[in-house]
Amino acid sequence: MSYIVLARKYRPKNFAEMVGQGHVVQALGNALTTQRLHHAYLFTGTRGVGKTTVSRILAKSLNCVGPDGNGGITATPCGVCQACTDIDSGRFVDYTELDAASNRGVDEVQALLEQAVYKPVQGRFKVFMIDEVHMLTNTAFNAMLKTLEEPPEYLKFVLATTDPQKVPVTVLSRCLQFNLRPMAPETVLEHLQQVLQAEQVSADVQSLRLISRAARGSMRDALSLTDQAIAFGGGQLQEATVRQMLGAVDRSYVLRLIDALSRSDGAQVVETVDALRLNGLSAASTL
Ligand SMILES: [Zn+2]
Repeated sequence: MSYIVLARKYRPKNFAEMVGQGHVVQALGNALTTQRLHHAYLFTGTRGVGKTTVSRILAKSLNCVGPDGNGGITATPCGVCQACTDIDSGRFVDYTELDAASNRGVDEVQALLEQAVYKPVQGRFKVFMIDEVHMLTNTAFNAMLKTLEEPPEYLKFVLATTDPQKVPVTVLSRCLQFNLRPMAPETVLEHLQQVLQAEQVSADVQSLRLISRAARGSMRDALSLTDQAIAFGGGQLQEATVRQMLGAVDRSYVLRLIDALSRSDGAQVVETVDALRLNGLSAASTL
């Protein structure tokens, strides 16, 4: 069986599972329960705090029909109906995610907006999720404004950004804004303990404390580091090995790389990268 990375395996599937974002969960939950639904939402926050996750849960809440097929809009999507399972597995036709970091132009946005005129095929609502929305060009933003202001009643926009200051005011003013906070190290620690217990991986609390701090508020980073630490520690997490892993990635290799780069010393760069690989350290984390 193929191994699923922890960050994916433990991605929250409903609001109750979302960690450390109580204020957002409560506000969205109330809106869904009372059916006071805005047509555009903007989720802000640093990377790995759950912007895409909250967007998918919202899409499920709007489209869930319950286990018996008779359910309505809900703050607690069932997780078993067609809409819920299709959104979870990324093949719900009425839920579209556009990554503005790689699709920044007016053509991509227009292609998306062209779909807006058609009613949802499968669900109650069409949900357009635009991630890293601040990356869109001005022309792309302008193309979107009219639909964003008065979308058809079956269409919801979910915008997400790590940099809300780069989003034009005209867009901000049309959205209901939620700020997802970086997670406190204690919150991350607690969650890691639960995940590792479920995974039956033994870990001392000191090693988890190190990872929780190194994750800098991102649960996704915390889980990726944990994956890495499990591999590094041969299936268990101990303070000494985790410290070695984090320390090595954070300091000596990075400094050697920067030093080599600043001196345009290609041989040293290659040598350092080789050493990284030999020690099983993540190139991505080093970067
Ligand atoms: Zn459902």
